[in-house]
Amino acid sequence: MKVLVPVKRVIDYNVKIRVKADNTGVETANVKMSMNPFDEISVEEAIRMKEAGTVEEIIVVSMGVQQCQETIRTALAMGADRGIHVKSDEDLEPLAVAKLLKAIVDKESPELVILGKQAIDDDSNQTGQMLAALLGWSQGTFVSKIELGDGSAKVTREVDSGLETIEVDLPTIVTVDLRLNEPRYASLPNIMKAKKKPIDEVAPADLGIDTAPRLQTLKVEEPPVRQAGVMVDSVAALVDKLKNEARVI
Ligand code: AMP
Repeated sequence: MKVLVPVKRVIDYNVKIRVKADNTGVETANVKMSMNPFDEISVEEAIRMKEAGTVEEIIVVSMGVQQCQETIRTALAMGADRGIHVKSDEDLEPLAVAKLLKAIVDKESPELVILGKQAIDDDSNQTGQMLAALLGWSQGTFVSKIELGDGSAKVTREVDSGLETIEVDLPTIVTVDLRLNEPRYASLPNIMKAKKKPIDEVAPADLGIDTAPRLQTLKVEEPPVRQAGVMVDSVAALVDKLKNEARVI
């Protein structure tokens, strides 16, 4: 079985985000970028499937600027087999990414696509669902366990009321949640080996997809600054503040 794993290059989760002075977006110049953390979990899961002998090939795909190739290399160093870079300098919205992924699925015929449940930069949580709709495939979202069977997969989903287990027919789309696994670090020999693994570069136009944005960002603002807390010296003082200052009781 072939597995396709989309990996997005995003601002590293440790970076303190700064809003641009003109409020048009967030500052990305000279900021550390990394693979979206949920996508590391997808790559890890695909590698574990390969190690278990259920998967033969893992293809990773990243869409965006030239440096996305670094993100692809990271996935190749973890253990993926080859990469596809869809090069674009435009902002790619989830629908455009889903359409590009559909074109790649049509070409590569994987039986499973594993995506992150969300990208930590846009927090959209849309791409996997849109891809499933465009392909007419089944989907399992917010997944914390995957058991591949013959022609189907059992997936456990994290829902508000606890865990839900469903069976989906293959081919299928899975979007992963945090508790699925703990991604490995790439070893130095594997980082060296990854330099020789192939990365194909294509343009959205090669795949016949128009990626023009459909949304317009009106304004991006910092959240309001939180006020420092105060220590109260008695329960009576706390009750007084809750009643007369916060007016919550
Ligand atoms: P989103 O719907 O934007 O929250 O993203 C959900 C998932 O879609 C991510 O975790 C990735 O697996 C995939 N994805 C979104 N954008 C890209 C991109 N530009 N390149 C590769 N994968 C992407």
